[in-house]
Amino acid sequence: MKRRFILFGATGSIGDSTLDVLRRQSDDFELIGFTWHNNEEKARALQREFPRAVAFSTTAADADMQTQRLLDLQHDFVIIAIVGAAGVNTTLEAARRGNTILLANKESLVIAGGLVMAEVKASGAKLIPVDSEHSSLFRLLQGAAAQRPAKVYLTASGGPLLHVHGEEFFNASKEQVLKHPTWVMGPKITVDSAGLTNKALEIIEAHYLFDLRYEQVQAVIHPQSYVHAMVELSDGTVIQHVSQPDMRYPIAWAMYYPQPSPDVVNGRAPFAYPALEFFPIDTDKFRAYALGRRAGEMGKYYPAVFNAANEAAVAAFLAGNIRFGDIAALISDALEVKYPDYDYTSIAGLLQYDSAARKFVEHKVFST
Ligand code: NAD
Ligand code: MG
Repeated sequence: MKRRFILFGATGSIGDSTLDVLRRQSDDFELIGFTWHNNEEKARALQREFPRAVAFSTTAADADMQTQRLLDLQHDFVIIAIVGAAGVNTTLEAARRGNTILLANKESLVIAGGLVMAEVKASGAKLIPVDSEHSSLFRLLQGAAAQRPAKVYLTASGGPLLHVHGEEFFNASKEQVLKHPTWVMGPKITVDSAGLTNKALEIIEAHYLFDLRYEQVQAVIHPQSYVHAMVELSDGTVIQHVSQPDMRYPIAWAMYYPQPSPDVVNGRAPFAYPALEFFPIDTDKFRAYALGRRAGEMGKYYPAVFNAANEAAVAAFLAGNIRFGDIAALISDALEVKYPDYDYTSIAGLLQYDSAARKFVEHKVFST
């Protein structure tokens, strides 16, 4: 029996990797529905390739209704590969419905981690991380459960600006920032990776996914991106999960879970790996990382503000309207704003904070 799935955000980088796994393993999976936003040409090609799948653009006026209809189809799992806050309602709805959710959209958990996890618990939904570090942690923690894990480490490549400092870091060009040394990803997460904002988002993601206190979740620079995560046990020893940096590993693993995944990548033997290095994060340089950690620790609406300010600032950077270093400065300012008292225990309230923080950043970009 083929496992039937729906892919939200099919035209992006995670969408590409997912469809690559599907094409290789077409005896095991069937795509029954997908969405895209505005990559029309690519979407048309996918419609020709998967004519039986229900497909629509989320720019449609009735997109919310179409999403409901798509989720009404009988399916084994959904993959949420939408980028940014735009994914949160789909994640929440799939969680409410008790679906098996393969989650790439980390922003859902940053904005509304408490609500998503509560829905998952109430409905019996299953949440399987696709983000490589969290996929590795998920696997490591299952194996380590009996050994009392004390702390976890997420690895960060350090991005294209690891060896760029001072003014040059602040003024890094779009071309420099978009040239990631180890991963091929969509533009937003690639910018997030250059400032380690991505790692802050992932710390918050790990806090919710694995119910860990922030001091138990650390990050470490690992330029080769072969080790994705580590778990430190109560006796001080550490277990690591290692593979080539290729998103098809965590995606295939999640698609097959709880069955083991075949090797869809053709992994290298360990003697073909590069030398593996680890360094601490310079939090003075990677300011957005420190801000995100802090926002996570403050809880309430702060992670939602952090995420929204970052999305608006990254969009401004990609549009050529601000310098790279302004992203962290804008996030910092947005976290200091005194917002109205919206209800941060509801998704509606959190999205009000999201929208207020975006407006604050957009206004600041255009008034300076
Ligand atoms: P991407 O920009 O390549 O693709 C995003 C997808 O979302 C596209 O299909 C796009 O059409 C759709 N989309 C864009 N705006 C939308 C909107 N407003 N409403 C609905 N759909 C919209 O992004 P990506 O790199 O594939 O990343 C997707 C998600 O996965 C992000 O949350 C990212 O952080 C996470 N992630 C990505 C990688 C990676 O290797 N690319 C790794 C780990 C986690
Ligand atoms: Mg990651």
